[in-house]
Amino acid sequence: MTKKNEIDTLKKLAKKHARANRVAQHESLNAIASELGFAHWAQLAGKAKRGWLPSDEQLAQAEAFVLGSNVPSDDSARFIDRNLSRTFDEPIRQGKIGDHPYSVFESFGDVRMEGDGWRILVGEALLSQPIVEIEEPHANTSPANSRDFIDAALMIVDEETAKVRAGISSDWPRRSTKPDAEGVVLHPLFGGKSADWYCLHCDGTITGAQLAENLWHCPGCGASPIDIFPASPELDGFDGNSKPVQVFGARQRPEPKVQVVDSRPTLTLKEESISMLLRTALLEDAETSAERLGALLAEICVDEVGDACIVLDEDLWPSLKEPDAAIAVAELLGIELELNETSMSFPFAWPGLGHVTTSTPEYVQLLLEAHQEKGVIRRTFKDD
Ligand SMILES: [Zn+2]
Repeated sequence: MTKKNEIDTLKKLAKKHARANRVAQHESLNAIASELGFAHWAQLAGKAKRGWLPSDEQLAQAEAFVLGSNVPSDDSARFIDRNLSRTFDEPIRQGKIGDHPYSVFESFGDVRMEGDGWRILVGEALLSQPIVEIEEPHANTSPANSRDFIDAALMIVDEETAKVRAGISSDWPRRSTKPDAEGVVLHPLFGGKSADWYCLHCDGTITGAQLAENLWHCPGCGASPIDIFPASPELDGFDGNSKPVQVFGARQRPEPKVQVVDSRPTLTLKEESISMLLRTALLEDAETSAERLGALLAEICVDEVGDACIVLDEDLWPSLKEPDAAIAVAELLGIELELNETSMSFPFAWPGLGHVTTSTPEYVQLLLEAHQEKGVIRRTFKDD
């Protein structure tokens, strides 16, 4: 390896480091120099001019330092491609905090850590508030009730979010995460350069430097990069009266928000669901076309204590026919079921036709023929 290549290798490493960590390149050069025992890059460069070369061990040390700072190790794989190649339920990290096993998942920049009955969610935006969710059945016993446990978990989550943010910055153009001398930055998704930006979501104005620092999320309201546009008079909604976004207090992450949630599938038994189950049972009980019409047209009411009443038309549902399935469903649901009869709700003439067949096409044919012969068929497809 020639001298030029070895120094170049250090420079390339500095470039990667700068990009992933969103710092100026000279800062990264200094960081690498100091890793190798120099006061700063200028000292290293000066020594290199007089013939000094980094040894293989030193090159390896510099590389390890840069990779340790969350730089993607594989140049060929963009962060988003690695993201998409992972299956939905494949953890990026697993381990234990004390006796409590956890898995960490990443999805489009957001990181989720999960254990038995608890999870912690951290968004890709810098300083986004961690949300701690404890499942209802674990409300009193969850380790996530302890602040020490949450702090330990957040240290792990933060290591992963740092990698995620470094991955995103490495994918984006350099000018998106590092303003130029005038504070101009480039929108990472839509292109477009400006020093002044506007958030459609909260109607605030934002500087390029704020956006670069916050990975293009609005520092005021947390809106994502798709809501951020260059502040220009041509922009809809931007009228020059917009105020700079309010960034409250010190630039530090809000305290984790701990909440008890219940994400178990819930069967809610109320009027609508009870009557739907009863009607489904009636349809099962129905054999002839008339009985199916009877099941569809039956009046089903559920009172405030959940007891039900079914009113069947005597022309559609034979008086002596017990709706066995509906009775069984009521019993399973633990509700009283009252059966009543009414008449005159038959929708077509010749109710008897509905009872001679179990086949609906056959019933429709009988209905059409009877009306052709002894009545009239009127076709109106518009509301009168
Ligand atoms: Zn905003």
